[in-house]
Amino acid sequence: MTPELKSYFDRYNVTETARSAVIAKSTMFIDGDFTDGAATEALPVLEPSTASHLTELARGTHSDVDAAVTAARRAFDEGPWPRMVPAERQRILWKLADLIERDADILAQIETIDNGKAIGPCREFDVLGSVELLRYMGGWATKIEGATRQISAGSDFFSYTVKEPIGVVGAITPWNWPMNMAFWKLAAPLAVGCTMVLKTAELTPLSMAYVARLMQEAGLPEGVFNIVTGHGHEVGAYLAAHPGIDKVSFTGSTRVGREVGTAAMSHFAPVTLELGGKSPMVAFEDADLEAVAEATRWSIFFNSGQNCSAGSRLYLHENIFEEGLEVIKSQITRMKLCPGLDPDCDIGPVISAGAKASIERYLDIGRDTARTVFGGQKQTFEGFFVEPTLFAVEDNNSPLVQEEIFGPVLVALPFKDEAEVITKANHGPYGLAASVWSRNGARAQRVMRQLKAGSVWINCHDVVDVTMPFGGVKESGFGKDLGREQIDHFLHTKAVTMAL
Ligand code: NAD
Repeated sequence: MTPELKSYFDRYNVTETARSAVIAKSTMFIDGDFTDGAATEALPVLEPSTASHLTELARGTHSDVDAAVTAARRAFDEGPWPRMVPAERQRILWKLADLIERDADILAQIETIDNGKAIGPCREFDVLGSVELLRYMGGWATKIEGATRQISAGSDFFSYTVKEPIGVVGAITPWNWPMNMAFWKLAAPLAVGCTMVLKTAELTPLSMAYVARLMQEAGLPEGVFNIVTGHGHEVGAYLAAHPGIDKVSFTGSTRVGREVGTAAMSHFAPVTLELGGKSPMVAFEDADLEAVAEATRWSIFFNSGQNCSAGSRLYLHENIFEEGLEVIKSQITRMKLCPGLDPDCDIGPVISAGAKASIERYLDIGRDTARTVFGGQKQTFEGFFVEPTLFAVEDNNSPLVQEEIFGPVLVALPFKDEAEVITKANHGPYGLAASVWSRNGARAQRVMRQLKAGSVWINCHDVVDVTMPFGGVKESGFGKDLGREQIDHFLHTKAVTMAL
C-alpha cells in the first residue's frame, strides 16, 4: 500500500475488513470458488482521490466466461435454485439483504475507496438502496402469476399460461454505481429463479467481490451467481455473444450498448439496454427556484455528475434565467469537493484520469463558447477532481448541450415559451429522463406528455424508487429495470392447452 493511501485510510478510520478487501487482488467468482481462472495477467485498480495504485484484478479470458456460463447453466438445468419453493428463494435473498445491511459500513468504505464517491450518500443510496431493492424483488418470488384463458377453439379445453424463469442471464455493469447497478441487474432474475454471470466494470470490481462472500453466507447455491472480471471488449463482448446465455442485461454507454445488443441478437437472446442520457430539466417562470437548485445538487452535482439520469441541461424561462443561475450558484458553491471518505464530502473525485481529461475537454469548450457562471477551471491537485461547473449556453446544438459529459457540469439555456422548450428538450439522441418545474399543474402534465423520456419527474428530479420502472427511449436504450415491469424481462410465458 502506498504511503498516501495508508495515511488516507488512517485519517478516516478505514476498518481492517475494508482495508483487506480493497487491497486483496480481485478474483473472479465461478461456481462458488474465488479464482483467477485462466487469467495470466492482472489489471490495475486505482483509488481516485489519491490516484494511487490500490490493487489488481484478474484479466479474465474467454475460457473463464465459458466456465462461468457452464456453472450457471448447470445450476439452472440441474440445481435447486429454479426448483426451490418461491418462499425459500425469497428467504435466502432477504437473508442476503440482512447481511448487506449488517456490513453496510464496510461496504460503503469499500465502494468509496474503489469509486471515489462521497461516503454518506454511498452508504445510504448505493448500499442500503441495494438492500431495499433486494427486499422488494425478493418479495416478487412469491407473487409470480400465470393466467387462465377462456378460448374459443372449442369448449372442451382448459387453457392457461405458466411463467417460467428465462434461464441463464448475462449481466454487464458500469463503474458509476458499481454495487447498486449490479443489484439492479441481479435482484429480479435471482428472485424468479434465474442463474447469472455478471461482468463487473474493470475500474470498480471490489464491492461485488465482497458481496459474493455474503452470498455464500446467505446460502445461495453454488453456480447460481458468478462473476467474471476483465476488459469489456474481451470478456464482456464474449459474454453478450455467448450462446449459453438466455438473456442479456446491460447498463453502460450507448456506444457499447449498440454492440452488446447486436451480440445478443446474434443468438436471439432478448436484451435490456440501460444506456446514456442527457436529461433536460425544464423550469417555467412559476418554478420554485430553490427546489430546482436543490435538485441539481442531488442530480448533476451528486456522484460528481456520473449519473445516467442526471439533469445535465437546464432550460430556464428567460424571465427567471439570471435569478435561477444565482440561486444555483449560491447552493452549489457551498458543496464540499474533497476525498470521498471525508464524512462531510459532497463531491468526490471522478473515476479516472481518462474521465477527468474527457470532462476537462468540455470545460475548454465551455470557456471558449459559453458564459461561465461558476467553476470551469482545471484542478491541478492530486486525484481525479473536477470542480462543479455551470455554463450559460445559447446554442442548443452545442456539444455541451447534446453530449453526455458524465461529470459535474451543468449547462443552462433560456427559453421563451412552452412550444420552444419542448422542441429544444426533445432535440438530441437520448431519452432517459426529464423533469418539469411549474406550479401550474395542467401545464406540467401537458409538457410531461410531450417529453420523450422513459422517466419524467414533476417538480423533482432523479427520484428513483425500487417500485418505479426505469429505462429510456431513443438512444438511451430499451427495457426496464426496477418495478414489477422488470420481473417480466426474466420470465418466459408458456401457453398450455389441455383437451378435457
Ligand atoms: P461502458 O459502456 O464503457 O462500460 C459498461 C460495461 O460494459 C463495463 O463493464 C465494460 O467493461 C463493459 N464493456 C465495454 N466494452 C464492451 C464490449 N465491447 N462488449 C461488452 N461489454 C463491454 O460504460 P461506463 O463508462 O462503465 O459507464 C458509463 C455509462 O453508463 C454512461 O453512458 C451512463 O449514462 C451509463 N449508465 C446508464 C444507466 C442507466 O440506467 N441507463 C445507469 C448507469 C450508467
